[in-house]
Amino acid sequence: MRRGCTAGAGEAQGESKREGREVIETGFTGGTLDRADALRHDAPAVAALLADPTSRLLLLRDFEPVVTDDGRLAWGSVADAPAGATFVLLGLGEGRAHFAAIVPGEAPPPPYRSPSLFALLDRLCGGEAATFAVARALIDWHARHPFCARCGHGTTPFRAGWGRACPNCKAEHFPRVDPVVIMIAEHDGRALVGRQPSWPAGRYSALAGFLEPGESIEEAVAREIGEEAGVPVTDVRYVASQPWPFPSQLMIACIARAEHDTITLDTNELEHAMWVTRDEARAALAGEPGAFGAPPPYAIAHALLKAWVEGGA
Ligand SMILES: [Zn+2]
Repeated sequence: MRRGCTAGAGEAQGESKREGREVIETGFTGGTLDRADALRHDAPAVAALLADPTSRLLLLRDFEPVVTDDGRLAWGSVADAPAGATFVLLGLGEGRAHFAAIVPGEAPPPPYRSPSLFALLDRLCGGEAATFAVARALIDWHARHPFCARCGHGTTPFRAGWGRACPNCKAEHFPRVDPVVIMIAEHDGRALVGRQPSWPAGRYSALAGFLEPGESIEEAVAREIGEEAGVPVTDVRYVASQPWPFPSQLMIACIARAEHDTITLDTNELEHAMWVTRDEARAALAGEPGAFGAPPPYAIAHALLKAWVEGGA
């Protein structure tokens, strides 16, 4: 149960007016910290902030956020970080610096989200999950990139934790973001959804796949729908995006127009795919019995289906 929030991150999904136009709000967005990019290049200033007793350190437990009773991220003191830790400057807010700790030699977080994590996220106020997403993605990246991809030498963090430098070959490495297209095809008032065998019984969602090198968003959408469901599409339209820090994806939601509705399933990718009407999708999003299981609120597929149902996409 969420307490003390005016707008929870989960509740924030949907459409709102921002500067006069419709905006589809998605999970892990809306962070309020100033990322203070200019500060990252100023090592003495960052050192001073780390020594400042008013600076805050994000509290995590097994890579999951610690959530206060009023739905906020819990913060501690930089001095409480484990010995040998280095730090990522998450940003500035409320007149102070906010950091996350990087513990050398620590194994990466699991590359998925646990049910307990999503229960915690559901208690967070709007925007707080975005700050957690930055920390989670950066902690994972540091843990998985202790060595130089060019020469194999050990690397060390620099730019306030927003990069790693190789002292041997002088290469600089930066956190990567992996783009994923997630989309529904539309045909005659129905949307194409599919399910993977590992999902909870009855769950259906938008199709998805990683962009490949040398491919546009539109081309990736058409290729993925063609590969997974055998449906040719045109008129790919961008709808919204959201970070997905498990570990480092950017989900790019689109809707495309299907040229026909004959499904040829790739069973290596999907267990089943089907066309659903707006009424069926609306019932699923509302959690009504008898409907298919909709993707959870934090997944952009939820916002994408909602936008389609409401005619906003
Ligand atoms: Zn190197």
